Amino acid sequence: MAVFTEYRIKESNMTINVTQSSMPPFDEYASLIRPLWETRRIANRGALHEELTERLKEYLNVPEFLLFVNGHLALELGLQALDLCGEVITSPFTFISTTHAIVRNGLTPVFCDIDAKRLTIDPEKIEGLITENTSAIVAVHVYGIPCDVAAIEGVAAKHRLKVIYDAAHSFGSRHLGKNIAEYGDYSIFSFHATKVFHTIEGGGAAFNDVGLTEKLRHLRDFGLCPGGEEADEIGLNAKLSEFHAAMGLCNLNNLTNVIAKRKAVTHIYDGLLDGIPGLRLFPNITGLKRNYAYYPIIIEDIFGLTRNEAAEKLTRAGINARKYFYPLTNAFVCYKQFNFPRNTPIAADIANRVLCLPLYADMTEDDVKKICAVFTGKR
Ligand SMILES: *Cc1c(COP(=O)(O)O)cnc(C)c1O
Repeated sequence: MAVFTEYRIKESNMTINVTQSSMPPFDEYASLIRPLWETRRIANRGALHEELTERLKEYLNVPEFLLFVNGHLALELGLQALDLCGEVITSPFTFISTTHAIVRNGLTPVFCDIDAKRLTIDPEKIEGLITENTSAIVAVHVYGIPCDVAAIEGVAAKHRLKVIYDAAHSFGSRHLGKNIAEYGDYSIFSFHATKVFHTIEGGGAAFNDVGLTEKLRHLRDFGLCPGGEEADEIGLNAKLSEFHAAMGLCNLNNLTNVIAKRKAVTHIYDGLLDGIPGLRLFPNITGLKRNYAYYPIIIEDIFGLTRNEAAEKLTRAGINARKYFYPLTNAFVCYKQFNFPRNTPIAADIANRVLCLPLYADMTEDDVKKICAVFTGKR
C-alpha cells in the first residue's frame, strides 16, 4: 500500500520529462497494421517497409536510401560498406553511438575539437589531424545544427577523404537550399522514439552511390547470398519490421504538424530566455531551416549558477533536463584502455556547460513557463 501511495504522489507532482514521443492517431496506425493479420508478411522487406523507403527517399531528395533497425547500425554498417581503414577524424561531442560505430569497425577515432558557436566539428582543425592513414571524416550535426558542410567537404576533397554525417538529430531540417541528407557521401538518421520523426526503433541511411545499396542490403541481412545457403560477408541482422515501418508511415504524414508544434514551443522558450546574461541559446546559422529537435542552452560563468547547479534546481522542480552531451565520448570508461588524447578543450568546456531543456510537440506553454522560471528566478 505504501508503495502505491508513493507512486500516486509522484504522479500528481507531474514531472516534466526531457522528451515525449509523438504518437499518430491510434486508428491510423491500426488501419495500416490490420492487413498484416491476413498477409502474415511482417518482416524482411515487407510492403510497408518498401513504401516507407520510397517515401523517405523522396522526402530527403536523395538517390539512395535504406532503412535499418536503428540509427546506430545504419552508421556502423555504412562505415563497413565504405571500406574505410586506419584513422577517422571525428568529434567527441556527440552521442556515444558515433564513436562506438567507428571503434567497432576496427577504425581509430582521431578526435577533433568543435567550433564554439556551432558545436559541430571545427573544419579549421581537421587538416592538422590528417595523416597518411586518414580515410574519412565522421561529423555530427549536433542538435540539428548543421556542420560547416562547405568547409568540411573542401578539406575532404583536397585529401580524398570520405565524409560521413551522423545526422541522427537532423531529420526534417534543410540547409542552404538542400535537405540535410544531401550532403556528404553518407548520412545516417535515427528514427528512435525520442527523435523528431520515429519508427519506435529504427534508422536510415542516405547516399548517392548506387553500388552501396546492394552491399548494405546484404550486410543488413547477415551477408547471406540468395537462396540462403551461403554467406560471403560477416553481416548481421538490421532489418526493420512492418510494425515499425507502419509507425514511420503514420508519423511521416504528421511530421509537418509535429515540427510546427516544436517550433511554437521553441519560440515560447526563446521569448522567456533570450537576453538573460550568461545563457547562450541555439546559434543563428545562415541558410538553416530548423527541425526543432532540441533546446540546448550553454550556461556561461556570468549566469551565476553552474550547469550542474541549474540541473539540480530543475530536478527539484520536477523537471528532467539532460546533460547532453556529457561526458565527451573519449572520456567514457569503455575507452579507458585506448588512452585517447583529450586535446579538445572547447568540446570539454561545452560538455560542462550544456543542458538540453525539455522539448516535445505536445508541451504546454505552462510547462515552458515553469521551466524558464527556474532560470529567471521569478517563481
Ligand atoms: C540517437 C542517436 C544515434 C543512434 O541512433 P539509434 O537509432 O538510437 O541507434 C546516433 N547518433 C546520435 C547523435 C544520436 O542522437
